[in-house]
Amino acid sequence: MVVVDLNDQSFFYDVMSLTGEFLPGEKIKEKPLTFEENSKDTLISVILSGNEAVVSSKGLVEKENIEGFERREVKSGVKRAVYRILSKQTGRNLPWGTLSGIRPIKLISSYLEEGLSPETIENKLYREYYISEEKAKKGLEIACLEKELLESADLSRGYSLYIGIPFCPSVCLYCSFSSYPVKRYQNVTGSFVEALKKEIAATAELLKGHPLDTVYIGGGTPTALSEYELSDIFDALSNDFTLSGVKELTVEAGRPDSITKEKLSVLKKYGVSRISINPQTMNDETLKRIGRAHTADSVREAFELSRETGFTNINCDIIAGLPGEGEIEYQNTAKEVRKLSPESLTVHCLARKRASRLTEEWDEYKDSAFKVTESALSVFYDLSKELLMRPYYLYRQKNIAGNLENTGYSKEGASCLYNVLIMEEKQPIIALGAGGVSKLLTGKKPMRLSNPKDPLLYIEGTEDIIRKKKEGLVRTGWL
Ligand code: SF4
Repeated sequence: MVVVDLNDQSFFYDVMSLTGEFLPGEKIKEKPLTFEENSKDTLISVILSGNEAVVSSKGLVEKENIEGFERREVKSGVKRAVYRILSKQTGRNLPWGTLSGIRPIKLISSYLEEGLSPETIENKLYREYYISEEKAKKGLEIACLEKELLESADLSRGYSLYIGIPFCPSVCLYCSFSSYPVKRYQNVTGSFVEALKKEIAATAELLKGHPLDTVYIGGGTPTALSEYELSDIFDALSNDFTLSGVKELTVEAGRPDSITKEKLSVLKKYGVSRISINPQTMNDETLKRIGRAHTADSVREAFELSRETGFTNINCDIIAGLPGEGEIEYQNTAKEVRKLSPESLTVHCLARKRASRLTEEWDEYKDSAFKVTESALSVFYDLSKELLMRPYYLYRQKNIAGNLENTGYSKEGASCLYNVLIMEEKQPIIALGAGGVSKLLTGKKPMRLSNPKDPLLYIEGTEDIIRKKKEGLVRTGWL
């Protein structure tokens, strides 16, 4: 166990997250009043005096000057000192240095907005955050591309919609999303669609006059619903919102075992411009192990069907670090995905999320999962190059394999604007359906309004959800 002793408690979370990145799985807590100096626990002490931050642990001492600094800079200094100590103790460096947040690109974008040159930014990333050269260059490339992409969105009056459909054919091992097995919930889907239509109508009324830039229908797996239910939702959407100016309409058709010709035809009819078919891996044994009731062959069939229906912008999600997989399995997945030739690719590193079966059954998987290194990941980087793609968005997660990141790559013109908008938090995202989180901009941190994950609670609480959304929009000056 690691015990942290701070004379300014407001930095506890930052020190704890950074320590957790160096020592994954280790328990970290504040120093109790009864702590014994000769305890076996590792003690990290952080003392802030007027002009100095002093960090010490196991005989090592690191100092940072903080005189006259603003809180943000003091926090950076504390994290640098903690980083140096932990790096010496563990003999490791972290690819993303002291950045423990999930949106490293936001920091780089803010430097671009300040007008700093790429060289100055790279230097700051090495010097102030200890980010590796490779990550700094990748981050900068993505931030520049994001800037270009954002020019097509209306950042002063526009907004985007997220619609959460909380059903899937089966629940994957690592899932912590809003996902309920559709067969078991077949008596609920009809009422869910009715409740969603109510929320769609009320939200469209509230946002009248504001341009809708992008729509993202996710979940869950929206295509787990029947073609009739999908049609019903799209009818409501196109009647209540003005979809003619929408720049992008994405539907997660993630599970190939949920895709049919009829459902694809519904999506095409209503102008869906981008779909995502997600193999995660093209190795059948792994697919079985992670609870996905489909094979690599069904991914190929779903792709073929989608191309036949006329979809020209298809994304593929892949996960590195699944149990039983290493470089050989990644190479097979890359070889098979190359044949599918998607327009974009999202490469995730497996993350251990609190509400997932993976975490509950961690003892069973801890020796076979999370085998991700920078070099193993380069298999997918090479794949993106072969498919003529560039990285255009990136985010990190807590407890992510190899301390790495998730990266979206795309061919020219096939990037997902919604993905960039949600990362950069430059435009309100209004979430409908189960499990969605609206982000309303306030000038500082966005105000977040969560819809319940459970479809039954969503159905019961629709009126309340609509009321809270209205109040939130009023409070943030949108109404
Ligand atoms: S397909 Fe996605 S949302 Fe559905 S269970 Fe698997 S990870 Fe969760």
